[in-house]
Amino acid sequence: MNTTNDGGDTDRAPESAPEREPEVEPELAPESEAELAPEPAAESTWGLPPDREPGPGTGRAPERAAGAATGRTVGVNLPALRSHNTSLVLDLLRTAGPDGISRLELAERAGLTPQAVSKITARLREEGLAAEAGRRASTGGKPRTVLRLVPEAGHAVGVHLDRDELRMVLVDLDGRVVGERCVPFSLGAGAEAVLDALLGEVTEMLSEALGGGALSAPLGVGVALPGPLDHARGVLHRVTGFPEWDGFPLRDVLEARLGVPVVVDKDTNAAALGLAVGGERGSFACLYLGTGLGAGLVIGGTVHRGARTGAGEFGHQVIQLDGPPCSCGNRGCVEALCLAAIRRGDVAEAARVLGEGAANLAGLLDIDAVLLGGRTIAAAPEPFVRGVAAVLDAHARREGSREGPVPVRLAPGGPRAVAEGAAQLLLAPVFGRGDG
Ligand SMILES: [Zn+2]
Repeated sequence: MNTTNDGGDTDRAPESAPEREPEVEPELAPESEAELAPEPAAESTWGLPPDREPGPGTGRAPERAAGAATGRTVGVNLPALRSHNTSLVLDLLRTAGPDGISRLELAERAGLTPQAVSKITARLREEGLAAEAGRRASTGGKPRTVLRLVPEAGHAVGVHLDRDELRMVLVDLDGRVVGERCVPFSLGAGAEAVLDALLGEVTEMLSEALGGGALSAPLGVGVALPGPLDHARGVLHRVTGFPEWDGFPLRDVLEARLGVPVVVDKDTNAAALGLAVGGERGSFACLYLGTGLGAGLVIGGTVHRGARTGAGEFGHQVIQLDGPPCSCGNRGCVEALCLAAIRRGDVAEAARVLGEGAANLAGLLDIDAVLLGGRTIAAAPEPFVRGVAAVLDAHARREGSREGPVPVRLAPGGPRAVAEGAAQLLLAPVFGRGDG
């Protein structure tokens, strides 16, 4: 989602756009309003945007955070990247990979005029985000220059704050992991201790990466942790098992300490976003069973967060009214039953409980697939996939479903999946892939 005016339809190619690649890239200046987002006014280098309102309740949209960085010390001009057309071109460049894509192909696929594409690519090259990838023969004309994305031109940090572990990755524009750290940690150690650990590890990871050569400061930091929380405001709610975090404005506090944009989301949403960006299509639920149980929902390619960004609280659906007490205060939640079965060593029962929850979700949302992830699943993947699939199969038979049961698979990505997805909270909007 973009708020920048990038020229509306003026750069859209008419139906009968000439089939010709412009031979000369137009002058860079003056740039049309199409690609010129207003420069932020008085901005300190690496500081916070001047209009930032601290504390919870600012109601700032998440894409604001992703695009509000200063552009001067970052190698990448973030205000310009907020343009919808630029996002389209960047995404096509990324998808084309190292082989590259010609400007004419970019124009055709983005639905823009060749002139508009030339203007965008000229600026991307000037900023170091795009580079020539050689020349390719074209039918009946001179060879065309092909362009590619320069993945190392920008980086983002993805942090996974788990209840007992702090894991983070540094990824390039292509999502490739170029730095990683993982340390034991306690989400219940208090805000100061948690923030100190997070900031210390981010600094260490960046300095390690810097040791290998020049690396501009990251575009921002995505932080994923157990919910519930308010994604739009970056404020934590009563994190299950850690009520002391209720109301903590994590996004604003981290932005003030780090000096770069920060986006906060639930671990399950980050994982789901990572899967969607990574090519998982359609509508799916990824169920994460680790120290807790949650679900990330992707509906029609977009992470579904709901009106108050509270969607996906899968673990606390009550499936046994007089069941054992849960840390959330209810009784008989899927999470409580599942974790209790695991503590008894009864993986088959844990899978059966998880399967009933998955069946409820599949019945409600009519999804294409159920993906299973998280540490507890990783410890016994086969019994969980089989057990959950058996429950979905039984439901489909009872309902007489023509298509058969919803398929169940392991979520790819391994233990870094949440951290990598957290980095996509910053990167995905740059490429126009949803609002992150
Ligand atoms: Zn519960």
